[in-house]
Amino acid sequence: MTVEELAPPVSAPDRAAPGALAHRAALSQLRDATGILGLDEGMYRLLATPRRSLTVSVPLRRENGRVEVYSGYRVQHNLTRGPGKGGVRFHPDSDIDEVTALAMWMTWKCALLGLPYGGAKGGIAIDPRGLTLSEKERLTRRYTQEILPFIGPDKDIPAPDVNTDESTMAWMMDTYSVNAGYSVHGATTGKPLTVGGSNGRAGATSRGVVLAALDAMRHSHLDPTGRTIAVQGFGKVGAGAARFFADEGCRVVAVSDISGGCYRAAGLDIPELEAWVAGGESLASYPNADAITNRELLGLDVDVLVPAAMDGVLTADNAGDVRARMIVEGANGPTSPEADAILQSNGVTVVPDILANAGGVVVSYLEWVQNLQAFSWTSAEVDRKLCVFMQNASRSVWALAGEKSLTLRRAAHVIGVGQVAEAHEARGLFP
Ligand code: GLU
Repeated sequence: MTVEELAPPVSAPDRAAPGALAHRAALSQLRDATGILGLDEGMYRLLATPRRSLTVSVPLRRENGRVEVYSGYRVQHNLTRGPGKGGVRFHPDSDIDEVTALAMWMTWKCALLGLPYGGAKGGIAIDPRGLTLSEKERLTRRYTQEILPFIGPDKDIPAPDVNTDESTMAWMMDTYSVNAGYSVHGATTGKPLTVGGSNGRAGATSRGVVLAALDAMRHSHLDPTGRTIAVQGFGKVGAGAARFFADEGCRVVAVSDISGGCYRAAGLDIPELEAWVAGGESLASYPNADAITNRELLGLDVDVLVPAAMDGVLTADNAGDVRARMIVEGANGPTSPEADAILQSNGVTVVPDILANAGGVVVSYLEWVQNLQAFSWTSAEVDRKLCVFMQNASRSVWALAGEKSLTLRRAAHVIGVGQVAEAHEARGLFP
């Protein structure tokens, strides 16, 4: 079977399942990078095919006593540079194709950042909004039990992603530890501080997004003060990024979530908005701004647009509407290859996901290192190390892009894919 056959055929790109689109995008980026690197077809196939893909069924006893069964996944795309690393998401659109694409992006992201990891990702196809806390805990523990033989601090280390958080990671770590018979702090990252979490992990992805954006502004000779920002997604990544942008003196004029969004030309009060949402209100009903739709937000005339929600939001259908000078991808895979081409020809600078949102996995790495050493660093120490990792990766992406006239995405993929291919060459093929 060829790799193209492994990927689902997509005849009408923007109408196919989101997972199929993400997988197709990941394969096309890989094809492009291997072409630039001059790698042969065998290496392309090795890198295009996940090392291990696990599908499990996750039965859940609801509070009313009924049993429902959900599909869960864990894909270890590549383990050549170290243990698998990547989040676990709970989302109704999660499927094996999406998880495979996300695992592939984790491989390139870890390699680009110089982290000693391969790439992995997990998911359960469920809408967690209707679940009680104890249902979520039972779901998480059963999923962990099903994937248990494949995970662990030396094998594959899960972390939070869409709709999962530090409690999810504490339950996963506890389930792993109960099976082991002792506490294994390094089994997951993104944990609460009391069970081996790291200072600075909660805001790390958002902090990384802002660092990547500031670096891009510097390269484009833009002073951050007063720059206008629009953020799609007001969850862990988006809300934190909005707050950090405001702290840097930027003007965050629009934010949105699945309920819709709000816009204020003079700049939004982000802490007030966070308190509004924490009180159970929707962004669209926030009284001190104008309501806008997600589509309107993507087309705003701003300096920086940050898609920080789901994959596949910028497509051939709406990429031409983007008026932002710069896109900084907080989400994984928000831009389809067709949208990428349109943005490039319209002169929009795109700071790609595998660089822009890498702050989360960098601090996950720092958390794991602290766990393995039974030691902990202060917030200031973690932040300093995060800045160094982000600056080094950003510098090498901008340098390669300049040197070879590549987009930042192509440069980032060439570096990430190149590192993994080099590791394969060095280790050789077994047997
Ligand atoms: N889910 C995050 C990502 O997509 C973090 C992964 C991790 O910390 O392992 O990068």
